[in-house]
Amino acid sequence: MMDETIFDKIIAKKIPADLVYEDEDILAFKDINPQAPVHVLVIPKKKIGRFAELGHQSTNFIAKYFIGISKVAEHLGLEKDGYRVIFNNGEDAGQEVEYIHAHILAGRRLQWPPG
Ligand code: 5GP
Repeated sequence: MMDETIFDKIIAKKIPADLVYEDEDILAFKDINPQAPVHVLVIPKKKIGRFAELGHQSTNFIAKYFIGISKVAEHLGLEKDGYRVIFNNGEDAGQEVEYIHAHILAGRRLQWPPG
């Protein structure tokens, strides 16, 4: 059993989060330390630890998760001006929470390459 993370607690409603979208497969909520005017995290309700584990998941799980991320961006009305989706995987990428999460960033011109 993986350790309980802050995102497990958000799913279990043990701690609050500013939810922006929810369906049976995913939960989306505002990042507590936003790096852009829009900074939302999207997690699957079925936990996996990180992006690298996607290779061991069913295509159904992956499809629902990725479709969900796209739906969140659509729900937030981000298509017109654009947005970025980021997965930090592991230490060098700065992953802090061992519960897979997509960052959706938008609302300003984003730098490329990222730092
Ligand atoms: P990572 O660095 O693992 O890719 O991103 C973790 C993200 O979770 C960070 O952007 C951080 O600000 C966010 N975060 C950490 N703790 C909390 C929390 O309790 N609530 C919310 N909404 N976001 C959090």
